[in-house]
Amino acid sequence: MSYEGEMLKRLVMPAKKEVENALLKTLFKHNGTIKEFATGEEIVDELADLFSLNEEQRNAVLERIYRKENRIVKTPLWHRLLYRAADSLAKEKLVSRPTSTIHLTNKKEWMLTEDGFDKVLNLLNIPKTQKEFLPTKSFEVQKVVKKLVEARRPENYDPFEIEKKTIKVTRESSIRTRGFRIAVIEAYDCKCAFCGLKINSPDSLLWEVEAAHIVPHSENGKDDVLNGVALCRLHHWAFDAGWFTLENDFTIRVSSRIDALPSEYGKINDCDFIRPFANQNSKLILPDKKEIYPHQSAISWHRENKFCN
Ligand SMILES: [Zn+2]
Repeated sequence: MSYEGEMLKRLVMPAKKEVENALLKTLFKHNGTIKEFATGEEIVDELADLFSLNEEQRNAVLERIYRKENRIVKTPLWHRLLYRAADSLAKEKLVSRPTSTIHLTNKKEWMLTEDGFDKVLNLLNIPKTQKEFLPTKSFEVQKVVKKLVEARRPENYDPFEIEKKTIKVTRESSIRTRGFRIAVIEAYDCKCAFCGLKINSPDSLLWEVEAAHIVPHSENGKDDVLNGVALCRLHHWAFDAGWFTLENDFTIRVSSRIDALPSEYGKINDCDFIRPFANQNSKLILPDKKEIYPHQSAISWHRENKFCN
């Protein structure tokens, strides 16, 4: 048995396979990415806590002697075990290595791939049908997000999908839809662009806010940030229903039919979710980057086709 193997055995360190599964679950908990393992990184301790490692197990150092160069390299044993587990996952294409993730996100992180994501759902007994609502950024989805937010803003933008929509949900279309959702929600800082509501689930996995299409999917609207806006569920419904629309300068317009409604309509206790937008020059809360503001051609389509004047 190697010196390292003996040390792992003597300290009763967790088996590599167990560490691999713990890594996958931790990646899922952190929306698909964790930092590269380095001393002092919280993630290293978080994983050690999962196995309730004692001080000796956490602090053990592996010393390797390089005789030719006459030097000793010391590596924390726990780091090395984490790295080896992550390396195995990368070989199985369940995670991407920090060296490839950095080209995508500019961060040195391990990131779940689509296959890795499927494997975690399996480990956690989460039905695959929930996958599309989870904000987990797989490597493939992050690629779509990057493409969407970095695309050049065209002068003449066509918010319609050219190809006829196929009923079949393919892996590719699921990745595109999830990329759209994450790109829009992140662009608007996870807030409703109308009312500013920002809230996540207690387990921090899900945001309340939704990525709304301006030209709806049912009308072949594109899965594109230029055809999207982040809205809370109430405002998403009201926008799709035609209570709201936008002017080209992003002023929010409310249907005049609101005046004909009984006063108790559209209220949560005393809080009114439609009327306040009619009385003032309310503007959409926009993303930081101008290039990903909703496009005027999508907005004007909504004004002409969805809005009830
Ligand atoms: Zn809202």
